[in-house]
Amino acid sequence: MQRIFLAGAVLIYIAGLVYFTSFFSVPKNHTSRPATPIRTATGEDKPGEKLVPAGQREDELSFPAGVPVLMYHKIGPEKNNDAVISPERFREHMTYLYEQNYRPISLDELYAYLNHGAGLPPKPVVITFDDGYRDTYEIALPLLKRYKFKSVLFIPGMEVGKSFTRDELLDMKASGMEVAAHGQTHRPLAKLSPREQEEEISRVKESLDSVLEQDTRYFCYPYGSYDQNTMEILQKKGFRLAFTMQPGWVQPGDNPLALHRIWVGNSIDLRRLEERLTRENYSRI
Ligand SMILES: [Zn+2]
Repeated sequence: MQRIFLAGAVLIYIAGLVYFTSFFSVPKNHTSRPATPIRTATGEDKPGEKLVPAGQREDELSFPAGVPVLMYHKIGPEKNNDAVISPERFREHMTYLYEQNYRPISLDELYAYLNHGAGLPPKPVVITFDDGYRDTYEIALPLLKRYKFKSVLFIPGMEVGKSFTRDELLDMKASGMEVAAHGQTHRPLAKLSPREQEEEISRVKESLDSVLEQDTRYFCYPYGSYDQNTMEILQKKGFRLAFTMQPGWVQPGDNPLALHRIWVGNSIDLRRLEERLTRENYSRI
């Protein structure tokens, strides 16, 4: 009888010990992947399926006839220079885009739309800044961040580490401003030999690729100057899209290495901006 009692007590003790230690055990899958993989909208991974970019619902996709690409340069108080826009007018433009529900898109999104007809958010627009002025970082970026607008900086390679430090460029990129190529020394490419052109294109790509740890695929021609050689070199180097200063929208069927952009300066008030965003044949002033 005493032996049975003792055996029972030992069993109860062991059971209690197991129960108690279970509270302190680390879950087996603590460091493993979640049991349920994150799925696409259909709930299944299908090869070749087009994924809807984050934050964009499927029913919100649009297939517009064209996309306006706005071209800004310097933002400052200088008057009588239409390449410069005042901070007040720039703010007015961004507020207008926000209030009218325009959706600034990335160059990857524009490429997908042009290359394989991918849908875009309604009222898409691309906002670009040329040359790498300090005001792009100091005036434009805070406003773009406030509205969570994507944008693009086209910078000559020689300005990397000069106009902006590496940290500033990384900050721009992390804030939704893509950093893309604008030649190395900002010379008009069509006036250079093929060898010089190749150097201009290779050097800016190498510089942006290494500083920003990216594969730079987008280009903007300084002064809108390019020729057949330029396009061949860009293609060889893996560039997907290149922008000119020719007026107009970007439309399906366009040469991806000769895309149009919309001039925006002080003379573009809200009425003219609206016209440029809504009519491809806007008045060329
Ligand atoms: Zn330029």
